[in-house]
This record gives sequence, C-alpha cells and structure tokens, in this order.
Amino acid sequence: MTGAIEVQTCSRCRSDAIVFQEYSGQHLCGRHLSSSIRKRTSRELRAQLDLPKNATKDDGSPFIILIAVSGGKDSAVLLSMMADIIGGRRDVELVAGCVDEGIDGYRAPSMEFARELAESLSLRFETLSYEEMGYGRMDEVVKLMPAMGESHVEAKGLMPCSYCGVFRRQGLNALAERVGADVMALGHNLDDMAQSILMNLQKGEIERSVRLAPHTHSKIDGLVPRIVPLRWIPEQEIHAHALFAGLPIHHGDCPHAPGAMRQQSRSVVASLESLTPGARHGLLHSLDRIREMHLMANPDLTQDVKNCKECGEITSREICQSCTMRKWLSEAS
Ligand code: SF4
Ligand SMILES: [Zn+2]
Ligand SMILES: [Zn+2]
Repeated sequence: MTGAIEVQTCSRCRSDAIVFQEYSGQHLCGRHLSSSIRKRTSRELRAQLDLPKNATKDDGSPFIILIAVSGGKDSAVLLSMMADIIGGRRDVELVAGCVDEGIDGYRAPSMEFARELAESLSLRFETLSYEEMGYGRMDEVVKLMPAMGESHVEAKGLMPCSYCGVFRRQGLNALAERVGADVMALGHNLDDMAQSILMNLQKGEIERSVRLAPHTHSKIDGLVPRIVPLRWIPEQEIHAHALFAGLPIHHGDCPHAPGAMRQQSRSVVASLESLTPGARHGLLHSLDRIREMHLMANPDLTQDVKNCKECGEITSREICQSCTMRKWLSEAS
C-alpha cells in the first residue's frame, strides 16, 4: 500500500476523471463533464424557453433575459453556459443582475466575482440593494429579529433566510422590471430543486411546489417567468466544472445560513442520494408529474393570487409578505 489515491479514467476518453456520477455509473474528465453540462443545459433551455427564430420585439428591441447572479458557483456556471449557448444571438440580450443583501464580509466580495465574470463575457451588470429597496441591510434585519418576534406572533421563530428570501424575490422582480426583462434565469441546481421539493412536500404545500420554476407552461400573471436551466445538474458537478473552467467564484458562506430549514433538507437529500443514487432525479421527475396532473385539474394557477394592497405585487394575501416585513422592521427600528 502506498496510500496513493487511485485516479479513475474518464468513461469517454483516457484522461483522468474529476467526477463520478454514481447515478449513471460514469466517470468524467473536465472536458467531458463540461460538454455534458452544456448539453443538459441546452436541452433544458430549449424545453423551458419558447424562443422563436427571431425573438426581436415589435419595437426592434431584443428579447431580454435577466440572469440572477450572486458570485457563487451555480450562477457563474449558468451565466457562462447561457452566454456560450445563446449569447451570440442578436435578437436576445443577456443581463446579469445581482441583489446586494448587505451582509458584511460575504456579499461585497462575492459581488465583485459576479461583476468580473459578467464583464469578461461582455454582459451588462446591474445591482440592487436591500437598502435601496427600503428594507435596510440584512445584517441590521438580523439584529432586529428578536424585537420583531416579541411584537408579532407571525415573526416569532423566523430565521434570517425567511426574511432574506422574501426580500430577494422582491429585489429580483424590481431588477427585472428595471431592465425590462422578458424572462429571468435562476441558477438552481438539482440539489436545490430536490431540497425545495422535499421541504414543500413535508409541509404539505403542493401548490407551492407546483409554482416552483420553470414557469414555461404555467405562467403566473404579473410575474416575469422564471427558468432554471441547471435544474438537472447536481451541485457537485457544477462545482467541479466551475473549478475546471477557472470561473471567478466566491467560496465563502453566508454567516446567517446556519439553522435554516434548507440546511436540514440539504443533509436529508444528501443521505437519500447516497443510499439510493438517482433519488434527486426521482424527486424532480415526481414534481414534474405532480405539476402535470395539477395543471390538468386546475389549469389556472393564478386563481388564488391577489395583488397586494400596499405595493400591488402579486401575493396570496391582502398585504404581501414583503410589505408586512417592511412594516415590522420600521416598527422595530
Ligand atoms: S443564507 Fe439566508 S440570509 Fe444568507 S444570503 Fe442566503 S437567504 Fe440570505
Ligand atoms: Zn473524458
Ligand atoms: Zn406589498
């Protein structure tokens, strides 16, 4: 025994493999992993995005796709893949958009990576901060959480991500509006999707699962349709590809993440996958089937959707969650 780690050979060529897909039994080198991710991404793009041969709008302007970027690996891979696949089209404009939550030591550096990548791909880079939107920095929101929990039952026990998720969704909608986006692309990978499906199912929230992106065949009024071209690509493969391709990515974690329900779901999905390789794909296939059946029974997804009395955003309640939280914040500060 020398203790050396045995390196597997790629299943498609003689190079060293950098990932093993247990669910397919294949070992892939960097080059073959990249081409496989590109192929899966293109296929999903075609399936999720109904782009005519010439997508130019009547006024001569291009079809605009806002790509939500964070400086992390998923959105970096999404941005570079989309630029590679459809970036050359004259009738389509890709815009990179980053929401700045105001988290010390985390967002500022990661935003610079996102900007660097967008610039290297010659794409427009837009940002919007929680402060500009009137929520204040996320670091401040976290400090006010105990006070908000004291005064409002609904706020009791909420984690930072509960606020942040609501604010980010609003921020992305506002960015989409600012750039005149026709579609928004998000970097969710297969693990993210499986985690969301599992979290919604365990809370009995079928409607919520059905409303998960992509919104290609189930448009929600008043919302820019979301697409998720990386949804079949496991996180580990995205990470390996980002490193192999030398994409500028930020490796830090958000200091407010610990304790979130997603963390729990992340480890459940990881153990499911290691016990039964292919479990993540199975969860996503199940969602697609549930969505089909649900849409057959309820073709109109917007039936329980109203407009917020304060801001007009679509919501399932009288006053939307972001306006409610904004009110709590102003009371607590
Ligand atoms: S981990 Fe939570 S608090 Fe941190 S950026 Fe993500 S959603 Fe916001
Ligand atoms: Zn190979
Ligand atoms: Zn509102």
